[in-house]
Amino acid sequence: MTEQHSFQTRLLHSKHKFDPETGAVSVPIQQASTFHQQDFDQPGKYDYSRSGNPTREALEETIASLEGGSYGFAFASGMAAISTSFMLLSQDDHVVISEDVYGGTFRMIRDVLTKFGIDHSFVNMTDLHAVATAIKPNTKVVYIETPSNPLLNITDIRAVSKLAKAHGCLTFVDNTFMTPALQKPIELGADVVLHSATKFIAGHSDVVAGLAVVNNERLADQLGFLQNAFGSILGAHDCWLVLRGLKTLHCRLKQSSESAFKIASYLTQHPKVEEVYYPGFTSHPGASTHSYQSGGPGAVLSFRLKDEAAVKDFSKHLEIPVFAVSLGAVESILSYPARMSHASMPREERLKRGITDGLLRLSVGLEQPEDLIRDFETALNQVEDLPLAAAKVGG
Ligand SMILES: *Cc1c(COP(=O)(O)O)cnc(C)c1O
Repeated sequence: MTEQHSFQTRLLHSKHKFDPETGAVSVPIQQASTFHQQDFDQPGKYDYSRSGNPTREALEETIASLEGGSYGFAFASGMAAISTSFMLLSQDDHVVISEDVYGGTFRMIRDVLTKFGIDHSFVNMTDLHAVATAIKPNTKVVYIETPSNPLLNITDIRAVSKLAKAHGCLTFVDNTFMTPALQKPIELGADVVLHSATKFIAGHSDVVAGLAVVNNERLADQLGFLQNAFGSILGAHDCWLVLRGLKTLHCRLKQSSESAFKIASYLTQHPKVEEVYYPGFTSHPGASTHSYQSGGPGAVLSFRLKDEAAVKDFSKHLEIPVFAVSLGAVESILSYPARMSHASMPREERLKRGITDGLLRLSVGLEQPEDLIRDFETALNQVEDLPLAAAKVGG
């Protein structure tokens, strides 16, 4: 991939822009589990698709190049990429991790890794002093998610990576919310970049996929070994879907981010909305760090209504967004973290992290923003001020 071209152009004109065999302007889907060997003394490049597949390799090379890394790995889901990367650790190691991390990562850390003797400390990653205090002699990984899910807290990737490196720890960054279109953690010092490619990277709510990128040969060897040993690889057809989604990443994210800013601004002035979280606002506590380390605020925002009853009223009357788990799609997705992404987190842990019963997360899609705002206006006006639905006319 020609590095001097812009990211936008490189999404389309990569090493894999056409098939060298046929000229086909789409990466061929090699739907094969095994590969014929001409000679057992000189095995071919591919032998078995868990260990290597040409379609997967095209995706892995593409994401590595886009992230500014040297090696990419494609997995069956974001959680498969994250869990396999944690297998780089050993018994008695320790992880320092963002306290408002994705619910599935929280579950992996708390309920799975502990069974294998891998300990953890949840910290407020925005507080560098708290991170430094949490690092122990056996800490091997500092795990960042920025902007975090669902409250969009911002961690200074460069500062935390530097601190981690000084203590001999690796830095993992979950870059799902930003994608390399907006943020390149490796350039800021991260060692492993992780993605749920299910979200913005693939972008069309039609595939579950995960990616990991590293920039170091030793780590690449270890992660490649684990990918093959663990075996949670992404199938060829799904790799192709992710490659296709990637082509429009820049323009999807640009459009959705502009709309997100408009919607977030609209929400801040509505009396039924108690709070809006969006790193594009200068009033956001992480705004300056975020604008330093990324190319834009992205297309996800959160906002707080009064309580669960308000959420129920509001979501019932909303017409356009899909009410669902997930984010980063062409259609806007409204989710309710307390019952969806963070349902696996105990209520008291959830409340401690600010994920209250009135919190909603919106991932803005490609609808016309004015249509969305009109839809929000109608639904918000249906939210009852009083617990009792008094004197409703009609019916
Ligand atoms: C969805 C998500 C994951 C998990 O990815 P899957 O593809 O669902 O396994 C991890 N991190 C973040 C930030 C996510 O949004």
